[in-house]
Amino acid sequence: MNLRSLPDRKPFLTAALALVALAALAAVAISAEPRAKELFGARKLPAVAPAQSFGFYSKGCFTGGVALPMDGPTWEVMRPSRNRRWGHPAMIALIEKLARDAQADGWPGLLVGDVSQPRGGPMMTGHASHQIGLDADIWLTPMPKRPLTMAQRETMSATLMVDEKTHLVKDALWTPAHTLLLKRAASYPEVERILVNPGIKKKLCDTVTGDRSWLRKIRPFWGHDYHFHMRIGCQPGSPFCKGQETTPGDDGCGKPLAWWFTEEPWRPNKNPDAPKARDLMTMANLPKQCQDVVNAPDAPSLEAVTYHGGAAVAEPQPTEPAEAISSGNAAIPAAASAFAPTPKIGIPLPRPRPGN
Ligand SMILES: [Zn+2]
Repeated sequence: MNLRSLPDRKPFLTAALALVALAALAAVAISAEPRAKELFGARKLPAVAPAQSFGFYSKGCFTGGVALPMDGPTWEVMRPSRNRRWGHPAMIALIEKLARDAQADGWPGLLVGDVSQPRGGPMMTGHASHQIGLDADIWLTPMPKRPLTMAQRETMSATLMVDEKTHLVKDALWTPAHTLLLKRAASYPEVERILVNPGIKKKLCDTVTGDRSWLRKIRPFWGHDYHFHMRIGCQPGSPFCKGQETTPGDDGCGKPLAWWFTEEPWRPNKNPDAPKARDLMTMANLPKQCQDVVNAPDAPSLEAVTYHGGAAVAEPQPTEPAEAISSGNAAIPAAASAFAPTPKIGIPLPRPRPGN
C-alpha cells in the first residue's frame, strides 16, 4: 500500500506508531519486573499463616512451611546452605516417617536433598517443581555410619546409580534395600508419584515379584539417577492447590517405559540456551495469592518453625481452615501459628524426640 496516496490516513499512522512505542515501553517494564525466583529466593523464613499450598508443583508457593531439622536419628539434611529443607508440615512429617520406616526395613537412614524454599516459589537454580512444599528429593545413597559434618554435606557426592550410556542401573550398586526404600515410600497414601530414572524403573519392573501394585506410582523421568523425588498430593486446607491427574492403574512397565529406551527421549536439546520457565516467571505468572505470600512477615524465629516430631503442633482447631490468603489483597493474620490448623493430615504424627 502506498501511504502517500492516502494523506488522510496520517493521523491513524501516528496513533499506530504511538501504540507501537507504548507497547515497546510496556515490554521494557515487563522485562524490568523482578523475577519471582529472586523474590522467593530472598526469603529466609516462611510466611506466618496456616499451612496452605497455592497453585501447581511447578507454578506456585505456600504458607505455613516448617523446616526438617538438620539432623534426626534416621536422617541428615544435605546441601544445608541452600536452605531448601522447608515443606508443608504433612511433607516434613512424611519424610520423618519414611526415615523411621526405612530404617526398620534395613536402610540405615535418609540423606535428604531439596524439599522447598521457605515459601516455595521458583528457585534460583535447579528444579522446575518443588514450589508448593509437596515435593522432596531423597538420595539413593544410604546415610553413612559416621555423622556427616556440615562441610561434608555440602561437598559429598551422591552415588550415580545409572550408566549414562545404556540408561541401565549399575548392577554392582543396586541392592534389595534400594527396592524396599522405594516400595516403602510408594506405600503411603499421601504419595502420588515417585520420579526415578527410567533405568531404575526398568530395574524394578524386571525384579519386583509378588505385590507389584506400588509400581504404578513409580514414574520414569530424566535425571533422578542419584536421588528419587517423592511427591504428595494437595493437602486438606489448600483449596487453591492444583493437583496432578492420577497415574494410570497399571504397573507402567510396558510401552511407556520402552519409549525411554529409544533414541527419542535422549536427543540433544535443539535450543539448549533457551531460558527456562522458572528463570522468566514474574509474580504475574504465579497464583495471585503468592504476592501476599512473598510479602508476608517472617515467622518469629527459625526454631519456632522447625518441625520437632509433632511436639510443637497445636491441637487441631475445631474451626474451619483459615483462608487468610484466599484472595489477592487479603492480609495474613500476623498472630496465626505456623503450626495451627493443618487439619486431617492423615498421617500419624511422630513422637517427640528425646532432648528436643
Ligand atoms: Zn525433585
